[in-house]
Amino acid sequence: MRVFVVSDMEGVSGVAKWEQVSGGEPLYEEARKLYTEEINAAVRGAKAAGATEIVVMDCHGAGKGWDFNSLVPELLDPDCEWVVQNEWTEYTEVLEQGCDAALFVAMHAKAGTPLGVMSHTISGREYHDLRFNGVSVGETGINAALCGTWSCPVVLVTGDDVVCGEATELLGPELLTVAVKQGLGRASARHLPPVRARELIEAAAKEAVEKRDRVQPYDPGKPCEIEADFADAGFVERYRHRQGVEIVDGRTVVSRADDWWAAWRQLYF
Ligand SMILES: [Zn+2]
Repeated sequence: MRVFVVSDMEGVSGVAKWEQVSGGEPLYEEARKLYTEEINAAVRGAKAAGATEIVVMDCHGAGKGWDFNSLVPELLDPDCEWVVQNEWTEYTEVLEQGCDAALFVAMHAKAGTPLGVMSHTISGREYHDLRFNGVSVGETGINAALCGTWSCPVVLVTGDDVVCGEATELLGPELLTVAVKQGLGRASARHLPPVRARELIEAAAKEAVEKRDRVQPYDPGKPCEIEADFADAGFVERYRHRQGVEIVDGRTVVSRADDWWAAWRQLYF
């Protein structure tokens, strides 16, 4: 059984400040250890549920050489392998090979969510909102659609209570979630201690993988229209000659295609 672990850094217990998720900052070095240990908890849970191949993909852009490269290799559980990708949402090989379940660890809420710790979508400076066939989504929705393209269901989401609520609303009540902290604002949270957070993540990962058949893969619909609201016209300009993408106004573009993955590639790459 193959399990894919998709992870971000803002949703880790003990992490609430931008300096903790930015490569090169002194606070980052402790946070990346906390991050790696939450990944290990999910790996242990998946293993206990019978996973024989567990692949981890860090999706956190920490800047410079730390982009998608925040995990501490020597701390990682020996029973997983991990991917360092170069572009966000670029790595799909393990999904193409066929994945039985995806676990999303340490996610954050979408842009414009006041109580979500470090809430944003892709890049706070670029994107104000994204909509898949009219439904507003954040990074959980994007990664769920990526997994869904190859029929892989997302069975667990962890992070603050805000992203857990966002994920349940989008993916349905069968999704298991673990809130490792309560969002009190964009840079404030009431945390569970990391040791307890890891126990909860491990137990939920095991249960989620065991009950994976209850959850349907996420598909935003076919055909698919992705609307993106940008911060300003400078970001819209680059789509002037892009096939399949219409510039609606100085802030908004729409990418249209037969399915989500085609619409996403037109918009994002
Ligand atoms: Zn991140």
